[in-house]
Amino acid sequence: MQRKQRVENCLVIGPPRGPLHDVADAFLWLLPEEIVKIVEYSIFAAYSELRLRYYHKDGIFEQEIPLVNTTPNYGGTRWWFLCPKCSLRISRLYKPLDACYFFCRHCHDLTYTSAQMSRDSTQKFLQATARDLGVTTREARRWFELNYDTPCIQEVQRPIINKGRDRRTGLALMVTKLARTKGLSV
Ligand SMILES: [Zn+2]
Repeated sequence: MQRKQRVENCLVIGPPRGPLHDVADAFLWLLPEEIVKIVEYSIFAAYSELRLRYYHKDGIFEQEIPLVNTTPNYGGTRWWFLCPKCSLRISRLYKPLDACYFFCRHCHDLTYTSAQMSRDSTQKFLQATARDLGVTTREARRWFELNYDTPCIQEVQRPIINKGRDRRTGLALMVTKLARTKGLSV
């Protein structure tokens, strides 16, 4: 019997928030051993559709994901995906690293695990990572927080960074880029 994949070992995408706009950008995941996974996305507001494009193994994969909305009691608009396989309304798309496509949790037969590290070992791990990378423990923690949070599509206009003044390199720059992807400021 094949072992169940873990949710934690997947690329995870959350839906857009607020009014839908045409937008094209990319999700970025930083995995251990400096592996970077990039998934380009475009939203076509007129069709309520999210298109994904990414490299996997030796090919380019493309997916079109329908978006539907509901109106919560507190007002506004909430967006959902329709799973491209089972057509159920879902709030997260998952792609296990070795899988070719993004589907819902059930279609990928994913399971959650409680493999949480203890506080002490987390701290030690962060310190060791920080030492390796030549950054502070705080920066390393921030990096992991950003990395393991679910990327959501931000339709809000992000501030343009002044490249001439941004002399940060390596990890700090990566953190800034990730933060911007999530519409946060660092
Ligand atoms: Zn599904």
